[in-house]
Amino acid sequence: MIVVLSSGVSLRDKASIVRFIEQNGGRLLVSELGEVTHIGLVDEAARALAPQIETMPGVAMIRSETPPYPQVSREHRMGDTIVDVGRVSIGGTEVVVIAGPCSVESADQIATIARGVAGAGARMLRGGAFKPRTSPYSFQGLGAEGLALLAAAGSETGLPVVTEIVAPEDTELVTAQADMLQIGARNMSNFRLLSEMGAQPRPVLLKRGIASTIEELLLAAEYVVSAGNSRVVLCERGIRTFETATRNTFDVSAVPVLKRETHLPVIVDPSHAAGDRSLVSSLAAAGVAAGADGVLVEVHNDPEAALSDGPQSLTIPGFAEMMTKLRAVAVAVGRTLGETVG
Ligand code: PEP
Ligand code: MN
Repeated sequence: MIVVLSSGVSLRDKASIVRFIEQNGGRLLVSELGEVTHIGLVDEAARALAPQIETMPGVAMIRSETPPYPQVSREHRMGDTIVDVGRVSIGGTEVVVIAGPCSVESADQIATIARGVAGAGARMLRGGAFKPRTSPYSFQGLGAEGLALLAAAGSETGLPVVTEIVAPEDTELVTAQADMLQIGARNMSNFRLLSEMGAQPRPVLLKRGIASTIEELLLAAEYVVSAGNSRVVLCERGIRTFETATRNTFDVSAVPVLKRETHLPVIVDPSHAAGDRSLVSSLAAAGVAAGADGVLVEVHNDPEAALSDGPQSLTIPGFAEMMTKLRAVAVAVGRTLGETVG
């Protein structure tokens, strides 16, 4: 529910509306949208106050049909949120490419890939240290050692790093080594982990669940933002459908729908959507054409030997080729995409 105030409302009337709501136990969110002030009532129970609020001086109208995710909604913030990760900004004119292996495997592997992707224009480095694997017998990641190797490769190349966190008790360890924390598809509905992400200092990359609707993704983001961290980037990574030709179905329509619904940046992960490296650059191009603010892509120096997700990992030359294509698409839609170094 949103209380829309009259455009010439006095400070005094505004203050008494806010006081009335707070004294009656309502949590609220004040947004200044151009000339107009909106007071969002966050708790569903606060709806009972509507008849009294409606008669107060300074109230223009009450809108009861509002999104269930007030803080991430465009109704709360008209401009786009830009999430800064080190010196990289996600959500501005530049389409930010984040690249690296599915898993950090060794010092050599991560350093080679980091240098390769940095040279081809990647702005951030990815790499999993704690891996959420479907089978308990698959490689589970190097854990703390992997985090340290990723951080070292990031600092050598100057790329901020993003890595997945799978358990609330790892927060201190992961925030000490990573510039951005990823919540993977399997944990998008882990509400305790989401709330924990609201109380730590790093920006969050939140992936869409394998069988989650766009609204559920936005509500997951609302968990993080309402717990105190507004630096959230959303990621479409493919959803499970009846189609078996691809690992997941890349929902390209999620990009413009999310951009319409939320002020948060939206990126795409064509690697986990495709499951096949030969499809990755086409899906990435579609995502950028649809308005994505970034692309997260898996790259390996020797994909055949990769310990996880080798079939969908681009080689370093394949990544450079994709970047050339993406740059042209980015320019066609009025964006820029990382210039190559050297
Ligand atoms: C990953 O990024 O390696 C990963 C496990 O992704 P997702 O959670 O989207 O499956
Ligand atoms: Mn992976």
